[in-house]
Amino acid sequence: MADQKPALFLDRDGVINVDQGYVARVEDWQWIEGAHECVARFKARGWYVFVVTNQSGIAFDHYTEADMNAVHKHMSQGFAAAGTAVDAIYSCPFHPEGSNPRFRKDSFDRKPKPGMLLQAMAEFPLKREASFLIGDKQTDIDAAHAAGVGGFLFTGGRLDHFAEWALASFEDGSR
Ligand SMILES: [Mg+2]
Repeated sequence: MADQKPALFLDRDGVINVDQGYVARVEDWQWIEGAHECVARFKARGWYVFVVTNQSGIAFDHYTEADMNAVHKHMSQGFAAAGTAVDAIYSCPFHPEGSNPRFRKDSFDRKPKPGMLLQAMAEFPLKREASFLIGDKQTDIDAAHAAGVGGFLFTGGRLDHFAEWALASFEDGSR
């Protein structure tokens, strides 16, 4: 088995990019300051970095999976241009009240449930007790706790600065 490494889980909308409602077009993508630096820094210290994002706009037919994938390609290209990359992007298109029957379901992947995080743990040898999530909603934090990792509510500012503060307080054992 490969060496276990800690993981930083990042919510997408409101953490990596500005949450302007449903972000489904590259033109609407606006980076949160410090997002590239945050990913680069954690990758450089030997962490996994994962994106875990609810995308119920697909269940409500606001946009398609192809639209989301195009946005994620744009995001990945942005990280690549900064010389870094996330290890995987997990997304959940489902919603229990979705208008599209294909995506109308109470999914275990939809935060506050922990499915996406548990999937990452099944796919990568990660050190759960050393891992944490940054999200901008309580449902993100609830998903983190349900998966047995720490959770920090992003309060704005630069993401890299917030993540360094989160890491320091996590290592302190205060979360
Ligand atoms: Mg969010």
